[in-house]
Amino acid sequence: MSGDRDSLGISRRTFVKATGSSAAVLTGTRAAAEPDTARSSANSRIRRYGTLGRTGISISDIGFGSSRLYVGQEDLVRHALDRGVNYFDTADSYTRGDSEVVIGNALKGDRDRVAVVTKTKVWADDDRHSIMRTLEESLRKLQTDYVDVFFNHAVNDAERLDNPEWHEFAELAKRQGKIRFTGFSGHAGRLVNVIDHAVEGDLVDVLLVSYNFGQDPAFYESLTRGFDRIATQTGLPAALTRAKARGMGVVAMKTLMGARLNDMRPFETDGATFSQAAFRWTLSNPDVDGLIVSMTGIDQIDEYLGASGGRTVSGTDLGLLKRYAALNGTSYCRQACNDCEGACPYGVPIADVLRTRMYAVDYEDVAFARDEYAALEGSAEACLGCSGEPCRSACSHGLDIAAWCAPTHRMLA
Ligand code: SF4
Ligand code: SF4
Repeated sequence: MSGDRDSLGISRRTFVKATGSSAAVLTGTRAAAEPDTARSSANSRIRRYGTLGRTGISISDIGFGSSRLYVGQEDLVRHALDRGVNYFDTADSYTRGDSEVVIGNALKGDRDRVAVVTKTKVWADDDRHSIMRTLEESLRKLQTDYVDVFFNHAVNDAERLDNPEWHEFAELAKRQGKIRFTGFSGHAGRLVNVIDHAVEGDLVDVLLVSYNFGQDPAFYESLTRGFDRIATQTGLPAALTRAKARGMGVVAMKTLMGARLNDMRPFETDGATFSQAAFRWTLSNPDVDGLIVSMTGIDQIDEYLGASGGRTVSGTDLGLLKRYAALNGTSYCRQACNDCEGACPYGVPIADVLRTRMYAVDYEDVAFARDEYAALEGSAEACLGCSGEPCRSACSHGLDIAAWCAPTHRMLA
């Protein structure tokens, strides 16, 4: 890469031209001369509620993600609730079930003014009775009679949404008042295909999908005047639009593109933070009803909620996002870009393996990463004895797959 180009291949001169008058370069709702939300994190709170598609549920634009919520952290949940967060997302697998327990402890007494959603992995051959037992165990832990949305978790194969037992279960559970709506969550290689399949068959009410600026071609196009120099997840924004047109609710996750927040602290000025900029980017897409993010500290919650209400992205925001992408662009797996699919002759689920690496290395939560790694269909064990030749050029983002997968297996297996 020449000195005049960063790791994204974006010409510095082009970038200066683009960001120097970012409001003029960007079009639509995404650009604004200045952010429309307070920069300060102090006393920040939810400033916007949106409707979750056809469910009609009113949700805070920033929701509570609890994948790393541990016993004794009820105060985090209560703090978010006090600041206006009313959408709480958990799963039966998070922190080995403790997440649901903590959410249940924290929200009892306030159940009627919040939306609580949970997830479980339903496979193509699961039967309705086992799914119902799983739901009932979640309800017990959550200390509630119902969840607002019950998600099929981490779906990467459309056939998991076709299981007739899942649909019969959902119909019965709705009739019994145990769930209000269904959804699926997804962040892996075939995400766009799964979304399209769900939309075509009208199979769920809500989508929870990985979506951030690093996946959206519009981010790069805004900086390069239409030159798509980077392979991105080109089909994802349009798939979300189709889902929205169907009336499905759309919630985004993984919005921080790996959440290497400390890398960005030296560049954050005037109270503007990278995470807030990333949230505004995601929320500026009118097809997104809200986002969830793992909340692991009081100060962090305050910082995150500083972005609530934001539906436009300023030049300052863009500068932070661009800098983050330049710093991390070739060391972050988009997970759902899918360009490496089929590159491994041994069937290593590369994107999923690299997602668990992100939990361990970027989120610094090795315990969670180990649990997620153990739950994968497949592993990176084959990488231990492989030359790495088959996947050497498979990543369109320049990631050295072989160099990352083998250590991930050693660390997490
Ligand atoms: S290093 Fe070998 S086994 Fe591992 S993903 Fe690449 S090709 Fe597959
Ligand atoms: S390894 Fe590269 S090609 Fe594969 S999903 Fe990640 S970013 Fe995409």
